[in-house]
Amino acid sequence: MSTRTDELMDYADVVARFEPVLGMEIHVELGTTTKMFCGCPTEFGAEPNTQVCPTCLGLPGALPVVNSAAVESAIRVGLALNCVIPPWSRFARKNYFYPDQPKNYQITQFDEPIAVDGYLDVPLDDGSVVRVAIERVQMEEDTGKSLHIGGSTGRIHGASHSLLDYNRAGVPLIEIVTKPVTGAGERAPEVARACVTALRDLLGALEVSNVKMEQGALRCDANVSLMPLGATQFGTRSETKNVNSLRSVETAVRFEMRRQGAVLATGGEVIQETRHFHEGEGTTSPGRRKETADDYRYFPEPDLRPVAHEADLVERLRATLPELPWLRRARIQTDWGLSNEVMRDLVNAGALELIIATVDAGAAPTPARSWWVAYLTEKANELRVELDALAITPAQVAAVITLVEAKTINNKVAKQVVDYVLAGEGEPDAIVAARGLGIVGDVAALEAEVAKALAANPDIAEKIRGGKQQAAGKIVGDVMKATRGQADAARVRELVLEACG
Ligand code: ADP
Ligand code: MG
Ligand code: ZN
Repeated sequence: MSTRTDELMDYADVVARFEPVLGMEIHVELGTTTKMFCGCPTEFGAEPNTQVCPTCLGLPGALPVVNSAAVESAIRVGLALNCVIPPWSRFARKNYFYPDQPKNYQITQFDEPIAVDGYLDVPLDDGSVVRVAIERVQMEEDTGKSLHIGGSTGRIHGASHSLLDYNRAGVPLIEIVTKPVTGAGERAPEVARACVTALRDLLGALEVSNVKMEQGALRCDANVSLMPLGATQFGTRSETKNVNSLRSVETAVRFEMRRQGAVLATGGEVIQETRHFHEGEGTTSPGRRKETADDYRYFPEPDLRPVAHEADLVERLRATLPELPWLRRARIQTDWGLSNEVMRDLVNAGALELIIATVDAGAAPTPARSWWVAYLTEKANELRVELDALAITPAQVAAVITLVEAKTINNKVAKQVVDYVLAGEGEPDAIVAARGLGIVGDVAALEAEVAKALAANPDIAEKIRGGKQQAAGKIVGDVMKATRGQADAARVRELVLEACG
């Protein structure tokens, strides 16, 4: 339960008296198709307990096998974070009981993680950069999910019973742990948010995870402590667990600073504990007193050999690193001449990457942008899905744009073509050919063809004008011939009749 009795210090007072220290722990579910130590699928949203096997259920005799795709992803993350990749690393058992963890221990890494000692240059809103030191990147497996039924909060307190879903048990995770971040001062909440944002964007660009915070694919624990200004010894930290949106990261850090400020100012002591974040109120409340590493009885995982990399693997993976997403974004913003506001809107709408991909597929930036932010955004809203979940690829959008530029179709028909693509009819070119949309779209061109055919057949034109509609067939036929069958005959007929009054 949330304790609503916390005294809070004014934020301005907190930063006038104390220096905040931050530490971020970020868990990321890797987007591998199978789990960390077995072949079970990892897809999100399946029926409970349908993606399980003896290994991820911890049944007797089942043995883990390391997923090499997960190892490669972890190494790429380490490299992108400028880490040292030791020649070998080892898994460790972290022993504790919790119902969502069927083995009674978690296979994780302890003193020999896959990557250590890196840094990330985090861009802030005003364009400045904070270097956040990375302590380590470790591989581990996710736990299952408990569902507490009957209470009002969804937490175990007050629940009548709990259900367990082990689909997530054994999904590959990496945990990224920063070194303590000092010197952020009053900007500490912003730095915390920016740090998670940068990690999210980087991991997305690496394509190792879908980084969807709302699905729990990226989860953040925020450690915060205060020390008197000018002090060098860190204060006692709290660790707010599972802060699941970027805005919440900022809110949680600010709240903890204000709460701890009030505790310290009245001569109290901050307790080292985990805390829950309450999204609705923007507050935190006590969780459990913090265990120490000794409590977990870590020891090297006896069922797995250490992970030793082939000599050239790390260098091969280094060559696959993408340009840092925010540098790439800045480059694109300059190239396309976009204002900060427009750029921010594109990013927030989840449109930027799609637009870039559309441009990469051959479209000009302006139409690429306008398709995604206008018509396709409308479609996504209608269907209540994210833009990137629409059943159309950037390459297909680029193909539609090319058809418009080539004047094969006009903008109105282009929207129909997009609708047909969304309906699963295939590629834009094929749709235009199959449906004969090629010139029908260009009504003016079609009208010109009709006028030409009428002029060439004055007697027939006369008959039609006289009310003999059947006579239109010959004119329609001529126009169809002239357009190599790409026109819509019914539409042509309408135009013929219109032309004859
Ligand atoms: P634990 O397993 O207890 O969570 P970790 O070492 O995994 O410990 O992570 C602790 C995080 O807290 C790291 O990011 C670390 O840099 C940070 N940290 C350590 N001491 C402090 C402190 N006094 N104040 C704020 N953050 C801290
Ligand atoms: Mg930790
Ligand atoms: Zn399994």
